[in-house]
This record gives sequence, C-alpha cells and structure tokens, in this order.
Amino acid sequence: AQLDTLDIIVLVALLVGTIAYFTKGTYWAVANDPYGNSLAHANGVKTGKSRNLLEKMEETGKNCVILYGSQTGTAEDYASRLAKEGASRFGLKTMVADLEDYDYENLDTFPEDKVAFFVLATYGEGEPTDNAVEFYEFITGEDVSFSEGSEDAPLSKLKFVAFGLGNNTYEHYNSMVRNVTKALEKLGAHRIGEAGEGDDGAGTMEEDFLAWKEPMWTELAETMGLEEREAVYEPTFDVVEKLDMNIEDNTVYLGEPNKNHLEGHSKGPYNAHNPYIAPIAESKEIFTTKDRNCLHMEIDVAGSGMSYNTGDHIAVWPTNAGKEVERFLHIVGLGDKKNTVITVKGLDPTAKVPFPSPTTYDAVARYHMEICAPMSRQFVGTLAQFAPNDEIKEELTKMGGDRDYFHAKVSELNLNLGQFLEKMSNGEPWTKIPFSLFIEGLNKIQPRYYSISSSSHVQKEKISITAIVESIEKPGAPHIVKGVTTNYLLALKLKQHGEPEPDPYGLNYALNGPRNKYDGIHLPVHVRHSNFKLPSDPAKPIIMVGPGTGVAPFRAFVQERAAYAKEGKEIGKTVLFFGCRKKSEDFLYEKEWEEYKEALGDKFEMYTAFSRDGPEKVYVQHKIKEQAAEIDKLLQQKAFFYVCGDAANMARDVNALLIKIISEQRGVSEQKAEDVVKQMRASNQYQEDVW
Ligand code: FAD
Repeated sequence: AQLDTLDIIVLVALLVGTIAYFTKGTYWAVANDPYGNSLAHANGVKTGKSRNLLEKMEETGKNCVILYGSQTGTAEDYASRLAKEGASRFGLKTMVADLEDYDYENLDTFPEDKVAFFVLATYGEGEPTDNAVEFYEFITGEDVSFSEGSEDAPLSKLKFVAFGLGNNTYEHYNSMVRNVTKALEKLGAHRIGEAGEGDDGAGTMEEDFLAWKEPMWTELAETMGLEEREAVYEPTFDVVEKLDMNIEDNTVYLGEPNKNHLEGHSKGPYNAHNPYIAPIAESKEIFTTKDRNCLHMEIDVAGSGMSYNTGDHIAVWPTNAGKEVERFLHIVGLGDKKNTVITVKGLDPTAKVPFPSPTTYDAVARYHMEICAPMSRQFVGTLAQFAPNDEIKEELTKMGGDRDYFHAKVSELNLNLGQFLEKMSNGEPWTKIPFSLFIEGLNKIQPRYYSISSSSHVQKEKISITAIVESIEKPGAPHIVKGVTTNYLLALKLKQHGEPEPDPYGLNYALNGPRNKYDGIHLPVHVRHSNFKLPSDPAKPIIMVGPGTGVAPFRAFVQERAAYAKEGKEIGKTVLFFGCRKKSEDFLYEKEWEEYKEALGDKFEMYTAFSRDGPEKVYVQHKIKEQAAEIDKLLQQKAFFYVCGDAANMARDVNALLIKIISEQRGVSEQKAEDVVKQMRASNQYQEDVW
C-alpha cells in the first residue's frame, strides 16, 4: 500500500520527535548566541546544549566537574573558584556546571580517573535551590536507577568532593550537602575529604570555605596522584575591544538582559533569566522618621502574563549606583573606556559568560557584576599579583593569607572592591588586572527577593512590596554601605514624586535603564512562587509573627481575609504579632490595620511591641509569651503558625519560645514539645519566610 500524505507527515513528525528526544535537543541550538559559549537565552529559555555530562567532559577533555546548586550566586562563585584553583594549582582539567543543565542517569559510568565536586546551597526550609531540584529528587529518590541497570553499588567508580552552604539559624542546617553526600555514599560513591559546611548564620561562610578546601586539595591530590605546582593566573575569558563598534550600534548590549530585550520586543514567560520591565504604579514612604526609609511600592504586572499568589516573592533586578560604577571603572583604569564595546568569549568551551555581548565595560559593571559586595579574602590574594607596586603586592599577599589581618584591614571597614583598590593604591589606577579576573572573581549580580505584601485575591495585577532601605553606618568605617537594590528603589520613588533632589547621596542611578527602556518609572522584576501559604480554608485560625518588614506577607494575609469577610465568608481567628522601634516612627501600615479590624471584627487580633517607646525594650517575643494560653488553644485547633523576617535571631527565638509555651501549657517535657513543633513544621502547620 502506498503511503498517503498524512502518513508521511505523521512519520516525519515522529522521526523528528524521536531525534529530538534522543539528542535532547543537541542539534536545536539557537545560532548567534549572545552569551558566548553559554546558555542561549533567547527568551530566558535554555535551548540547545547536550544534557549528557560525561559526553561533555569527554568532548572537552575534562577530568573534573564542579556542579553547583545555587540560589543567590555564592555557590556558583565557589564552584568557579574551585575550578580555577584546581586547574592552576593541580593541573586538573576543570569545568563548572549548573546542576540543572544535565541528566544524571549515567552517573554510574563516571570514569574512575575523574572527579565530581558538588557545591550545594540549602535554601529555605532545607530545600534544594531552584536549579538543584531535579538532581536532588533523582539522587535521593527511593528507587534511583541508572542507565547500566541494577547493581548493589552503582556509583562505586564515582569519586566526589562536597561542600555545602547553609545557615545554622535554620532548622535544616546544610541539609542539601548532608543528604546528597549520604545518598551518593549509599550508592557506593567515594567521598574525598570532609563534606564541608559553610555557615552564613554565623557569618563565617567564606572562612569555612577557605578552611575546608586546603585539606580537601591535599587529599584529592593524593588520591588522584596530582602534583601541586606554582599557580599561574590564566584568564577564563577572552575580552576583546571592538574599536569598529560603538554604543550607537543596535547589536550592542547596554544592559539588556537578553536578545528580546535588546531588540525591544521582550516577551514572557518572565523568570530568573528574563525579567519583565514593570511600571511602578505607585510608591510611597511609610516611615515617619527622617533617619530611615521604608518603601511601599505597587508594581503593575497587568498584561505581562505573570501571576502571583498571596505569599509569593517578587524578585527585583538591581542596577549598581553610577557612583560605584564610576569608582570601579576609574580605579581599574577603564574610566576613559567605559563606553568601549567589548566582546567576551569563554576561552574554554565549558566556560559560561554570565552576560550577553557585545557589550561595554560600563554595562557590565552597572548591570551584571556585584561590584558593591564585601571583598573575599581569596580574591584579595589573587589580586596581589596585579598590584601596581611591590609594596602593595606584599600587603595583599599578607591579607590573602592571614584571616585576622584581613578581617581587621578589610572586612571591618566594609569596603567594596572599588573602595578597597582606591584605599590600597591611594587612588592610583590598577591597570594590570585583566578584565577576565573580574568576570571570574565577582558574583553575577543577583535579583533581590521581596515578600509580596498584597493579596492576589484583592489585587491580582498589582504586586505590593515593603522594603526597608539599607544604609549601614559603622564607626571607623570610611563609607556608609548603601544597599544596592533598596537605594535604587528609593531613587525611583523620589523620581516618581518629582523631588527636586532625586539623589540625596549622589548615588546617581541610571534610572532610565539601557537605551531609556525603563523610562517612566519602570523596574525589571519576576515572580518566584513560594510555599508560604494561607490555609485554603479561611475559617482556619492563623497566628502570624512578623516584626519590622517581616510583616510584609502578613499585610497580604490580613488584606485577603478582610476581603473574604466582606464577601460574607466565615473567617477563622487571625492573630498578628508586630514589632518595631517606635509607634510614632516605624509602625508599618498603622492606619490600614484599623480598616482590616473593621472588616474582620473580633476575628482579628493584633499585638504590638515597641522596643524604644518605654523604659523597657519590648519585643514580639514578650507579647507572644503574654498570649501563651490563647496561642496554645489555637494551635490545638490546628491553627497555622507563621514567622517572617529576621532569620538570625527572631525566628530562632520564636521557635524556642513556642516549644516552651507548648511544654508549659500542655504540661509535657521540652523534648516532647520540641517534637510537636518539628511535627508542625513537617506538616506545614508551622511556616517560615525568613531572610
Ligand atoms: P545589598 O547591597 O544586597 O546589601 C545587603 C547587606 O549586605 C547590607 O545591608 C550589608 O549588611 C551587607 N553589605 C553589602 N555590601 C557590603 C560591603 N561592601 N561591606 C560590608 N557589608 C556589606 N527585605 C525587605 O525589606 N522586605 C521584604 O519583604 C523582604 N523579603 C525578603 C524575602 C526573601 C525570601 C529574602 C531572601 C529576602 C527578603 N528581603 C526583604 C531582603 C532583600 O531581599 C534584600 O536582601 C534587602 O532589601 C537588601 O538588598 P540591597 O540590594 O538593598 O542590599
């Protein structure tokens, strides 16, 4: 029988589908990738590239892969530092890899003469970072199985190194690295060195990392028979100045995050690779004191296709202050070249360029690199070889090698890179640092998250944020640390209100964005869904603890319940604990609570603690203690318990306090009460949104 046209179409479609399946899209790469050797972000969607890690290593001649699970960029930064160090000190052929870019079913065929590193951040309540979710589910899965079939110890050939980034103020401290190590070992893999653990809660992340890696390298060198050699710096990226191009060329990225944005037709889906340039519908100051600022903003997402649910986060894509961009470019000798067009390519096929090119030095410093962050000791050590003179070189070498000295001379002074270089050379430009080193050594700028302070039931297309403006003055430190994103938001707010001096600190933000694309008060954002959620039944009781800006998601919760009440729904007891310094200064949404009270009546109970209004400091913890009996009663009725805000102290104290309350009210041991609280967490009856 002859095939008719329809059969042929079906067969061709099947064939194409089959090839696509087996190649996992290898041949479907987008041409002209503006991210040289990297993710093709046509629209924030990663396209192209093979997902076979072993094949990739084989093809590129690598014997060491450093896989990272990163949320805020630190794990990614550590991964590239390890790659760099492994190559320069031990001659390892290293590559850095994003966990989400590969599949792991063939990990059982990982060759014995190679090594895999896992650099894993733990996020939130012991969760994997977004890019590590699939890997984590696979490797810790009940019935994980590999391509070669079933064996007792399928990963017995795999050698691995592990480091975790965590925060000891969270219940599930470093659970990612712990669980992954356990899973890998259970599958027969061999760990080299200790599984390191860095602690952000104690503020020792960097030092924990540095202390962990030396013995690890020694053990790795021994196991793999590596010889240590004098580390010589080799750039990862080729940065070429294009004198035949200029910023008028419409192919040059001036800060646009991807091709669609460059071409002026950005489209969804909007996500961590592709922001929506949202209009700010409204902005206002909500503190009444002049010394500190807290912003309330309404971000309009109508027509973007982006949606949110009450309790989600919004990510804001920051821009560095012009003042800091200029400081940085000047001190590294690029002041006169800020608008010079450059192309950046990975010198190795596995090196990802973290921004699109061609671009300019100015655009890279302003939109893509975290130039204002604190300095890392390792980076300072690396900079020594490029010092303008021997004296400075010696000083930097000392700082790089001596933790206490570094602490006293750099960390204590809150210096960013530009300020540090200025101070060290007395303003003389450092012209010997290859630009590649900054791309390698500085973090890629990270969107900052804000707990959405509006209810999606009440305002579906307008997202509220409540952000305190970071401004940190420290005695002895020569500069005030101005938080990157929040001061950018402040400048936007001042512009929106047409204030005569929109820039009180001379920070000089480029508020109009690249090619004026953000003009008219726009801000690049995307929404991140969270698990911090109201019970689906509004009749269930809830207890919320949110001092300071920790009240943000609770404004959303109460706003939502007030709306339901107005619609005639039955509402459960809604209890809020709020704290701030002074009633007259920083009592957030003071008037609004009264409106909600009107709608909710005696279903809404608000307890406030003002730490600086009376002779005694009163915190939310005191107010919670006073309501112990009521709280326990509600918990017995399966009330949901929420905590939002400061992770370091408050959230931990509240956890301990709740254990105490349950123990006392129910007459059970603290141990038993602790189990109750753990159980509440496990069943989502206790939820935290802390930072
Ligand atoms: P950054 O520039 O990131 O600086 C932050 C801090 O780092 C500074 O205050 C300082 O302590 C330190 N620092 C920076 N540079 C230096 C330096 N050179 N030397 C020494 N120290 C330095 N915030 C809110 O206000 N409201 C919210 O609702 C909210 N929700 C959040 C929800 C989540 C899930 C998370 C993770 C965070 C949330 N945050 C919220 C915090 C917010 O994301 C930002 O971290 C905060 O606004 C500061 O951002 P920034 O860019 O202004 O400051």
